[in-house]
Amino acid sequence: MSKIIKLSPHVANLIAAGEVVERPASVAKELLENAVDAGASQVTLEIRDGGMTFLRVTDNGCGMSPEDARTAFLRHATSKLKTAEDLAAIVTMGFRGEALAAIASVSRIDLLTKTPGAISGTALHLEAGNITEDTEAGCPDGTTIIVRDLFFNTPARMKFMKSDTVEGSKIAAAVQAQALAHPEVAFRFLRDGKEVLSTPGTGSLEAAVYCVYGRDCKLIPLDSKWDSFTLTGFVSKPTDARPSRALQTFFVNGRPVKSRLLIAALEEAYRNQIMVGKFPACVLHLTTPPAAVDVNVHPAKTEVKFLNEKAVFDCVHYGVLGALNKTPDRPQMQFKPATTGAPAPQPPTAVPPKQVNFSRILSAHFRAMSDEEYKNFASAVKDAPKPSPAAAAATALAVEETKLPPLRESVILPTAAPAITPIPVSQPVSQPEEVPEQTVIPTMPTDIPWRYVGELYNSYILVEQGEDAYLIDKHAAHERILFEKLKANQETISAQALLTPIAQRLTPDALAILLENQPLLEELGFEIQEFGENTLLIRQIPMDLDSSLAADALETLAADLLNGRGQHRESVRDELLHTVACKAAIKAGWQSSEQELLKLAEQVLSRDDLKHCPHGRPICISLSKKQLEKQFKRS
Ligand code: ADP
Ligand code: MG
Repeated sequence: MSKIIKLSPHVANLIAAGEVVERPASVAKELLENAVDAGASQVTLEIRDGGMTFLRVTDNGCGMSPEDARTAFLRHATSKLKTAEDLAAIVTMGFRGEALAAIASVSRIDLLTKTPGAISGTALHLEAGNITEDTEAGCPDGTTIIVRDLFFNTPARMKFMKSDTVEGSKIAAAVQAQALAHPEVAFRFLRDGKEVLSTPGTGSLEAAVYCVYGRDCKLIPLDSKWDSFTLTGFVSKPTDARPSRALQTFFVNGRPVKSRLLIAALEEAYRNQIMVGKFPACVLHLTTPPAAVDVNVHPAKTEVKFLNEKAVFDCVHYGVLGALNKTPDRPQMQFKPATTGAPAPQPPTAVPPKQVNFSRILSAHFRAMSDEEYKNFASAVKDAPKPSPAAAAATALAVEETKLPPLRESVILPTAAPAITPIPVSQPVSQPEEVPEQTVIPTMPTDIPWRYVGELYNSYILVEQGEDAYLIDKHAAHERILFEKLKANQETISAQALLTPIAQRLTPDALAILLENQPLLEELGFEIQEFGENTLLIRQIPMDLDSSLAADALETLAADLLNGRGQHRESVRDELLHTVACKAAIKAGWQSSEQELLKLAEQVLSRDDLKHCPHGRPICISLSKKQLEKQFKRS
């Protein structure tokens, strides 16, 4: 048997670094937290090259004595935990005295620190965790830590890093989270020499939110209590929905968290007020008794577990509903009346007890979300829960047959259990991903004449051909046709110059990634120009895109690019084409002329390539005479 050996402190630190220091943004997060913990009122973060070569945090906090400065880099060195009794209260905040040791073990560090009142400060230099220089230095009160050449001694880890822009944008997100968590602290963020964020530090959350989200985000204040929970912050007006979840920030007891439960509770409050595929923005601070949450103490993670999920859901859901109801320009109803005469959904009322089926909503939200997507909230726009044509059509027909009215609900939230058991039409109702392709995608004979019958629910074109009927999803079909057209046009996409350029304010990371990808955007028909103050001027857009949707499309493109999805140019291009096609296509629920629908049906029936929309959902489902006869018990 091999002999047991004790790991050297360096190796132990490297292992801890693997957990704590995943990428430059994790370094930024730890150093910013330390600065806030040190009582700073001003914190500056400066990065170069996505934080890989240079990352500096300067604060005006309590500083460290020479002895403390040296011990701070030892493992399990913390000033925030002294006795075992402190443990319960403090562990939840993630103080493990590990961050500095872990960061130091995989980088070169310069530390400059002075406590107020001391005559001089301390300067340390560390290489891979070892102090190589230790001198007295004149410096202002507070602490500056410079981290250089991150992962210089762990090349394997270095390989996992994405482009500087992507790493830089993850850092931007970390600063934004801190700025929103601590409006009482003035944060400045400098990226490659340019100031990209600055918050006033006045203690006003509203001021901080406007600095981070931009002035054009229309916000409604929220302040509510529910049992032992309080919820404060801001939510966006329903008319100001975003194309991704990038502007949803949640804090639990002051710490930024990611939580599907909180997202579901928020979005449920906007149901029927926001278009499918659009998302509300928010900054919400939830305060709970410490025992009500189980914070995962892994310092690099931001997930929480609530002991009473139902109470948390209700607190957020009703808190947001209440805030939305107070706003005067809340749209009464954004959906057009259902063609079937089903009752139009009512605007939400303040506290309708028992109306919300909590577990159903959660599962409806999350069965449609893949894990990958959950990791990348910004990408969620692609696969957000949308009605599945097969499920909606089947449910709708079943409802029609028995004269029960909950059709509207079924169409909006097809993943929910329908009120009655649907009668299978072409297939039993099931999740889109569970439907084997060949069973829902009909092959249409091209030699038999066909007839346009009409449109269902402003969404599906009904066509009859011989012994078969087809339901065509008009949005999916149009999107696919546009996508193929854009793709066939490999060289350049025809563009339209805008008479009046559109000014669009973006988050710093979205702006940076769009500017970096200008040549690609030009191929797609966009011409953009930097306009200062995190603003872009859009001068030219793709021909097929309506100018009112241009800003939206660019924001989605930025989210695509930030996700670094598909490092290959070709797949990035495809992704962008999908976005343009999706934005430019007619939408379910819109009024379309018969001529327009006929043209779509014609193409779907005559072309073999139009079976799925670019996102893989079916375009067309069939309903044969035989199937109907069977259901009417005629055969
Ligand atoms: P933790 O934050 O869990 O205590 P860290 O490794 O992040 O562990 O920091 C170790 C210790 O170094 C802290 O407890 C604190 O005493 C000291 N420290 C770190 N950063 C600062 C700072 N910016 N200002 C003052 N003290 C700091
Ligand atoms: Mg710390």
